[in-house]
Amino acid sequence: MRVPLIAANWKMHKTIPEARTCLVRLLELLPPEGGVEVAVFPSFTALAEARRLLTGTAIALGAQNVYPEPTGAYTGEVSVSQLVDLGVHYVLCGHSERRHVFGEDDAFVGRKVQAATAHELAPILCVGETLDERRAGGAWAVVERQLERGVAGLGDNSRGLVIAYEPVWAIGTGVAAQPADAHAMASQIRSWLRDRFGAKGDEIRVQYGGSVKPDNAREFLRLPDVDGALVGGASLDPDAFAAIAHAVLR
Ligand code: PEP
Repeated sequence: MRVPLIAANWKMHKTIPEARTCLVRLLELLPPEGGVEVAVFPSFTALAEARRLLTGTAIALGAQNVYPEPTGAYTGEVSVSQLVDLGVHYVLCGHSERRHVFGEDDAFVGRKVQAATAHELAPILCVGETLDERRAGGAWAVVERQLERGVAGLGDNSRGLVIAYEPVWAIGTGVAAQPADAHAMASQIRSWLRDRFGAKGDEIRVQYGGSVKPDNAREFLRLPDVDGALVGGASLDPDAFAAIAHAVLR
């Protein structure tokens, strides 16, 4: 019922020519047969070129960030309508680097999710605990709080919403979560989504993210409550990223 979503978060990497080369290769390599959705999240600077290359293809375009206000004196920020104007379909909200490097709190993340949803931009709400929080037995409490506040402004409108469970300690470290732990958390998130959104909660995809690579992707993507992956480091190499997308179909 839920088509897995494999998303490439390029972070602050790739110039426009580098983005072009990567996308051209990716278009050659991705599975043609359906059964998986692929989205690429370049830097803002490469969005227009990515749109040019991806229009009419099966790869969706995503942005790494958005500002929740519609317009105004917010130097350096980018609005929902500016992203929609660029053909962007998805936006990351509350990625752990935004929370931990830039100090974004749950309420601010919730405003982004609400602003995106209101304008048909699909938010990927990123949630996840730190290592200390996990060791203290508080992983679910943190994720539950991030979910509650992240969707607080949505009412019963969950259209387009995706959740990415990304334990902070697994992002960019090469140390992925144990698949059983990722599955336990994804299942808990699923039950929470059912309680919060009723039957619509079953339509919301729950991705795993954190050091997903071609050689471990299958361990996560075969799990019934994991509906895809958010991939950072390995998505910079089109061959590696395409191998992860192919792992859904194996
Ligand atoms: C991410 O940036 O969301 C991420 C999961 O990064 P990595 O795959 O490098 O851990």
